[in-house]
Formats: sequence, C-alpha cells, structure tokens
Amino acid sequence: MPAVAHTRDELRRERGHLTGDVAVVMTMGALHEGHATLIRRAREVAEHVIVTIFLNPLQFGPKEDLSRYPRTFDADMEICRDAGVDLVFAPTPDVIYQDGDPGVRISAGPLGTVLEGHSRPGHFDGVLTVVAKLFHLTGAHSAYFGQKDAQQLLLIRRMVRDLDFPVRVVSVPTVREPDGLAMSSRNMYLTDSDREVALALSRALKAGADAATEGPSAIRRAARAVLVREPLALVDYLVLVHPTTLEDVPEWYRGEALLAVAGRVGTTRLIDNQPVNVGPGGGAIEVFSDIDATAVAT
Ligand code: AMP
Repeated sequence: MPAVAHTRDELRRERGHLTGDVAVVMTMGALHEGHATLIRRAREVAEHVIVTIFLNPLQFGPKEDLSRYPRTFDADMEICRDAGVDLVFAPTPDVIYQDGDPGVRISAGPLGTVLEGHSRPGHFDGVLTVVAKLFHLTGAHSAYFGQKDAQQLLLIRRMVRDLDFPVRVVSVPTVREPDGLAMSSRNMYLTDSDREVALALSRALKAGADAATEGPSAIRRAARAVLVREPLALVDYLVLVHPTTLEDVPEWYRGEALLAVAGRVGTTRLIDNQPVNVGPGGGAIEVFSDIDATAVAT
C-alpha cells in the first residue's frame, strides 16, 4: 500500500522520503478509472506520485452535495496501490484550514463567474484556494488534471501563469464508460433510468463534434437536437466557446473550441465537454493542442 499522511507532520515526514521529480493528482476521493488514468500518466513521467484525497468544503455551495458525496477510502487506497502511487495525503478540513474558513483566498476572476461559476457562485475561488495550498503542501513539480473539468483546468492553468507557481500543469483526456458516459464519482448517485437519461449529454457532444466541419451553428444545432429529445435531462447550459476565453465563438470562427454541457438528471448535476476542431477536416480532439504553451515550466 502507498504511505498515507493525514496530518501536516505526517505529510512532511513522508514527503521527505520522496527525492527527485514529484507529480501530484488532486482528487475528492471515490476514485474511478478516470482518476487511475491521471495517476498512470503522472507515473509515466515523474519519479514519484502523490495523490491527495480531500473533500474541500470551500468549493461546495450550501445546497450542494458535500454531505452525501461518496466516501470510499479503502477502495481508493487499492486503486492508488494498483496505479503505483507513493503517497496518499488525506487530510480533514481542519488540517487544511487550520484557523477555520480562510479570510484570504484566491480569486478566480471573471473566468470563474461564467458557466460552472455562474451556476455555482464562489466554486472556483474555493477550488483555486485549495489547489494553491496543495501545491505548497505537497511541493509537487507537476500536476495532472482531467479535461473532464475543462473550466477548472483552464483556471488552474491561469492561476499557475498569473501567480507564477513553479508547477507544470498537464491535462489528461476524459475517460468514458463504453457507452460514452463520462466517468464521475457522482455517477454513483444515478439510478438505472437516470443513467439512460444521462447518456444524452455525451451523445449531444458527439453529435456536435460530428458536425464540426460545418461551423459553429451546425455544431450547436446538432448537439441541441439530441438534448431536446431527452426532456428528463434538465440542461443548465450547452455552449461552444473559445478554449481560453470561454466566450461563445462567432459563426466565422475556425480552430479549436470547447463544446460544453451541464445539466441535472434526477438529483444529480452532471457536466461533460468535448474539445473540437471547427472547420474543414475538423471533429473531436482529445485535449487542446496549444494549451501547454500557457503552462509555466519549472
Ligand atoms: P474529482 O475527484 O472529481 O475532483 O477529480 C479529480 C481529478 O480527476 C480532476 O482533475 C478531474 O478532472 C479528474 N477526472 C475526474 N473524472 C475524470 C474523467 N472521467 N476523465 C479524466 N479525468 C477525470
């Protein structure tokens, strides 16, 4: 089993045993194949991998699912062991926020107020604050994040660049179930019939990507056509936006864009997205090609 640290002292001690290049994969637990893929990617490049498991109260709204979020620590440890993790840092909120809610926080700025940030006010400030703290506490040289949470990934890249964090940010394509559903810890909430309904999200993204050669309005139209056929998927937003500004791309736009969707199925809020290349020869792509140029190398 990987070493486990729950406290700052334990983390300091165990971190001291890791020499050379260290990568971190930050999670909220309830690990699945998506997380395992991030860990394996990190493992291929770095000498050591730290996984953090922390349900960050700061990024949950008062009406959100913090109290029912799945907690599966023993199974998480087995996934970490199988994926070759060296150290698991699993603190409680009082370890991370020693003096209670932090008065000083990272502000995600304007990009943190649209899409997910519009539906979840303050969410990205909470995310960036804990990510910044976990960068410091783990002393990682690189960090692996999933394209599944595209806006989070963009904002972490922006924070690293805007605030000069000495960390290399690496994005990993979304891992899906065989039927297309994006893997998520929150899929555990779905009933069998919810799960059928939830497929409309990934199907819509695929339909949009398949229309990519025809331009933005064709992409949006194709994706929307799938969603309107599934009224039980309560769509929050469906957008085709620029990968770094998150602004709707105009009809003349050609190049990389983010097709993103969010909605509620039963009691569960789900998000998914598909990076696409818009224009001749276009279609679905796994991650954005030029985005690593915006990451700060150590
Ligand atoms: P979470 O535990 O949901 O906070 O996710 C932790 C990390 O795993 C984040 O970087 C997520 O983007 C990433 N992740 C979650 N689900 C997937 C997935 N299906 N494919 C790829 N990465 C994922």
